[in-house]
Amino acid sequence: MIDDPSESDSRRLLRRLRDVLAEESAGQKRLDRITRLIADSTGSDVCSIYLFRDAETLELCATEGLNPEAVHKTRLRIGEGLVGRVARTGTPVNTANAPAEPGFRFMPETGEEVFSTFLGIPIQRLGETIGVLVIQSRESRRCSEDSVYALEVVAMVLAEMAELGAFVGEGAALRALHQKSVTLQTVVGQEGVAEGHVWLHEPRVVVTNPVADDPEAEKARLNDAVEQLRISVDDMLSLAGTADKEQRDVLETYRMFARSTGWLRRMEEDVARGLSAEAAVEKEQSLARTRMDRSSDPYLRERLHDLDDLSNRLLRILTGQGRNTGAEMPPEPVLVARNIGPGELLEYGRKLRGIVLEEGSVGSHAAIVARALAIPLLIHAHNITTEALNGDLILLDGEQGVVHLRPEENVAAAFRDKIAMAAKAQERYAVLRDKPARALCGTEVSLMMNAGLMADLPSLGNSGADGVGLFRTELQFLIRSTVPRRGDLAALYRRVMDAAGGKRVVFRTLDIGSDKVLPYMKPQDEPNPAMGWRAIRVGLEKRGMMRMQLQALVRAARGRPLSVMFPFIAQFEEFKEARDHFLGVLEHERRLGHAVPEKVEIGAMVETPSMAFAPRQFFELTDFISIGGNDLKQFFFAADRENERVRRRYDTLNVSFLSLVHRIVERCEAAGTPLSFCGEDAGRPIEAMCLAALGMHALSMRPASIGPVKHLIRRVNLKEVLDVIRTACDSGEQSVRPAVMDYLRNRSPG
Ligand code: PEP
Ligand code: MG
Repeated sequence: MIDDPSESDSRRLLRRLRDVLAEESAGQKRLDRITRLIADSTGSDVCSIYLFRDAETLELCATEGLNPEAVHKTRLRIGEGLVGRVARTGTPVNTANAPAEPGFRFMPETGEEVFSTFLGIPIQRLGETIGVLVIQSRESRRCSEDSVYALEVVAMVLAEMAELGAFVGEGAALRALHQKSVTLQTVVGQEGVAEGHVWLHEPRVVVTNPVADDPEAEKARLNDAVEQLRISVDDMLSLAGTADKEQRDVLETYRMFARSTGWLRRMEEDVARGLSAEAAVEKEQSLARTRMDRSSDPYLRERLHDLDDLSNRLLRILTGQGRNTGAEMPPEPVLVARNIGPGELLEYGRKLRGIVLEEGSVGSHAAIVARALAIPLLIHAHNITTEALNGDLILLDGEQGVVHLRPEENVAAAFRDKIAMAAKAQERYAVLRDKPARALCGTEVSLMMNAGLMADLPSLGNSGADGVGLFRTELQFLIRSTVPRRGDLAALYRRVMDAAGGKRVVFRTLDIGSDKVLPYMKPQDEPNPAMGWRAIRVGLEKRGMMRMQLQALVRAARGRPLSVMFPFIAQFEEFKEARDHFLGVLEHERRLGHAVPEKVEIGAMVETPSMAFAPRQFFELTDFISIGGNDLKQFFFAADRENERVRRRYDTLNVSFLSLVHRIVERCEAAGTPLSFCGEDAGRPIEAMCLAALGMHALSMRPASIGPVKHLIRRVNLKEVLDVIRTACDSGEQSVRPAVMDYLRNRSPG
């Protein structure tokens, strides 16, 4: 018969359970004692524990009341029988007439007589089901809400102990949590492949004491911690000021949850039943995660995520565990986080093998930094922070956008083959480092690299780049919390030029706005930031900032040549104004007696289609032009470069886009203006080859692409490639890619 355990009964049960768990017994023995204890305490005829053997199969791991011979023999598939139903749905089944329930399956091997009463509770930790706890009785009786609740608390303790490895022992089939291999489809933030071990940016709090002795003292501890949490959220809100609306919104939600009486009441109830404050927080968190997994409403999911974050904060207050848990960073660390700021990422620096984020966007600051550091980055990895544990083996396939967590051996082997092939290719490219990118027809292409941080500069020598074709100066601004001082900037630019050792460095003035919002600038509430107040538009209106940067550049050059280009020029007038401003700064510096650059080159970035149709004078006045292909393409096709849905829809080798590029080439040639291309496409060998064939004699790309691009260019005749492109353009095809690929396949190996 199943009693409704009163609160004190459930507390007693928990206490006895804790004693069993504290004993030095082996895994199986411990499980047997637990089932006996629960059957006894609840007055039921049967208590059984089923645990997942693999992702699909549950195994009877201990029982009191069923045939002991069936232990480790009886297996159920997920969804099979009532136990399987509990496991599949993650919700309890509570019935007074089990045989009448849909899905009931009689299991003679367990010696199962017909037990009418069945209560099955999922054993879950943080929303993940690891098994099922069942009690059964002959007498027909539906268990009260209280019984269900009490067993849920017990199941939660079991899950917690499983996490700590309490049951892993002789013969026990328990697969502790987090042993399944997981494959996730993600979005690529930075290409590349990596193998390493998980390093959680925010390590999971480990609850070592799920059961508490003194509920009153425990309640006081919980209340104190919640109060501390509320104060810290209020502090964060007052610090946030009015600056960042989105951040304020999140914090307001935090405050709402932190002050929610329902949340606290539920946790207090759990504590009253014998759970420790930490376990009570985790129980609520687990419920929220289950709801989060089931909800398709993005708004609700976001809010549940906020609650999840808040629970983590509360757990850290209760356990005193900060980010630094004393754990040692594993070898070849792969950072796993919900999201991360650019500054934090820079602190980790190049020691990371890869980065996997649950959120983030391709154009986020973190992505920009990851790209600058050339670390593979995968974003939108659903639930990765919940699934992964510190030290887990993890493989990042930044070409296909796939993450393998705890991969099966065959997957890991195939992956390693792929890495080895890539490494072999790199070796091949290393041989080419000091050779020119000269095509078979004799045309030479200058291959430059993109950079944005001091840390990028060593790649200049390693990659064999001819110089830095694009130095994105905004990165230095993005990673600081205050406006950098002119002196600091000048020193930095000087170090960059020194490190370049006489090779050309093209500094692009600040390209902020759009997705790049400076922490110390008032954010603009714009409906369409990519087409809004950004780059040169900001520079021309915020003259002080632009002047400061230009002065820093001039002072850094100190008698050396200086190349500066202005981003996002959309009409001639903007370039003229920016150029005049620069010349004014130069004159002023000269008058102040500062050493001015030996020579200055003032260029413009062409990132909007309008400039292909600009007046001739624009091409004549610019000392050089660089095509910002990322933006040019996004505005040409009206396809947001950060929107995964539309980003890949339009091919760079689209006939219309190539015609636009060709037009810019011709206009530059007519004016005698040097032209380069510095969007991401410059680093893709096929695209780079086509751009070079169209007359682009300088390409700027991430350093890792220089080898592959050079390798291809040296093996083709660009005149032939141009013929192929021309013919394909006339054929009415949408893209020249198929024709170009055919050409590469069929030509004699060079
Ligand atoms: C571009 O738009 O192609 C470019 C190089 O600039 P960014 O990617 O920094 O916008
Ligand atoms: Mg751009």
